[in-house]
Amino acid sequence: LGKKQEGVIISRFGQHADVEDENGIIHRCNLRRSIASLVTGDRVVWRLGNEQLQGISGIIEAVHERRSVLTRPDFYDGIKPIAANIDQIVIVSSVVPEFSTNIIDRYIVAAEDVKIRPVILLNKIDLLSPNELFTINQQLQTYRDIGYEVWQVSSTEGKGLDGLQSLLKDNTTIFVGQSGVGKSSLVNALMPELHIQVGDVSVKSGLGTHTTTTARLYHFPSGGDLIDSPGVREFSLWHMKPEEIANGFIEFRDFLGECRFRDCKHKNDPGCALQDAVAKGKIKKVRFNNYVRILETMLDNRPDRHIPV
Ligand code: GDP
Ligand code: ZN
Repeated sequence: LGKKQEGVIISRFGQHADVEDENGIIHRCNLRRSIASLVTGDRVVWRLGNEQLQGISGIIEAVHERRSVLTRPDFYDGIKPIAANIDQIVIVSSVVPEFSTNIIDRYIVAAEDVKIRPVILLNKIDLLSPNELFTINQQLQTYRDIGYEVWQVSSTEGKGLDGLQSLLKDNTTIFVGQSGVGKSSLVNALMPELHIQVGDVSVKSGLGTHTTTTARLYHFPSGGDLIDSPGVREFSLWHMKPEEIANGFIEFRDFLGECRFRDCKHKNDPGCALQDAVAKGKIKKVRFNNYVRILETMLDNRPDRHIPV
């Protein structure tokens, strides 16, 4: 075997994974049996084999500790990791199909739960008149006040993309948001020549065909990485417990331990510190209302509970 090398998992296929070495070359590798779980974005230690056998060039021996992990519920495994080492979740929204702070808050709560920084991106600003843009900005100000970054772009007209590149640089990002907000358009605008380097992986080997469900890591030409797949884009409030929801509203956290009753539902309970904070203007009403709505959807156990947003 060759010497130990550092690498990044670009994609995982069953018992194989594509590892990118420090020179940007991709090698299809087997996994040591001792490796319990391996996903796109994982940092690994691997070695080249003496020869390439059936399209396999090396073996992955160890996985470094993850700084974050994106999970989703799995029928068999309970909770399953789908990608690792993500720095930020860009929540894409737009006026078409609909601008909704409730949907933005659902994604924020989900991002806070996995401890990955959420960033809000308003796309399709070309569709807005100056007045409409002003009104939406008033709503977005709530998020700036809490401390979240807010970006505004038009992916079809290229507006604001230079600034966005500075956000993406030096980070690993995923894009989430409702269908139709422009996630694909955004990726296309930022990666005009989305071509995947295959290095020494033989395309004809017939091993692990690239299914669209596998998360994949891409490099932006202007710096930074993107992890993408249909499953990643659907990331939402999978599997959160209702009592965890309030904690995802970060400006609530100061008040959560202050309610008179430990099991306060923050609804009509006497001595509720959250409702008191809303009354005193320390918590914005719109965020509190969104919290109540999200909670109701979950408690009702409506059939849409597990459907993303
Ligand atoms: P996705 O479902 O989030 O991936 O959304 P798509 O990228 O498929 O975009 C949905 C529709 O919105 C397409 O018809 C796009 O052309 C359109 N679209 C995307 N970005 C913009 C934009 O910045 N401005 C305008 N006017 N339309 C956009
Ligand atoms: Zn309370």
